Amino acid sequence: MSKEDCIFCKIVAGQIPSTKIFEDDTVLAFLDVGPLSDGHTLVIPKEHYEKLHECPSELLGKVGSKLNKIAKAVSDGTGCEGYNVLCNTGRASGQLVEHVHFHIIPRNSGDGVFDRWPAKQYPDGKIETIAEKIREKL
Ligand code: 5GP
Ligand code: ZN
Repeated sequence: MSKEDCIFCKIVAGQIPSTKIFEDDTVLAFLDVGPLSDGHTLVIPKEHYEKLHECPSELLGKVGSKLNKIAKAVSDGTGCEGYNVLCNTGRASGQLVEHVHFHIIPRNSGDGVFDRWPAKQYPDGKIETIAEKIREKL
């Protein structure tokens, strides 16, 4: 998706309205219009990058450095018992808007959000093989 067609770039530019909760030179946080729970918030870098791993460290650092403050405000403001921070990356993960964003999803016991968490077990030896493949890419 090009920057020109990006919904979140249009929100940053003020071409699409949003309910903002935080803004500085590089970071914007606003409420998700299709919330999984009340106060579901999206935190984005204002600059357009599609995937988390394409985002330069310095920019990601600036976004990350605001996550705690915004998460506390979401938590205190909604009175939720907990929250999930989620960054869907790629279609397979559920990423629909191709502009890096972090969801902050307020959670309460029994709310039914993410009820399915299909954890598996590694067969013998596989965990080390996979770890090695990942380590050699670092
Ligand atoms: P993704 O599935 O890409 O991780 O999440 C994109 C999120 O953006 C969805 O939860 C969706 O509800 C939200 N979203 C899509 N379009 C808009 C919009 O125009 N305004 C706002 N505030 N949120 C949007
Ligand atoms: Zn964008």
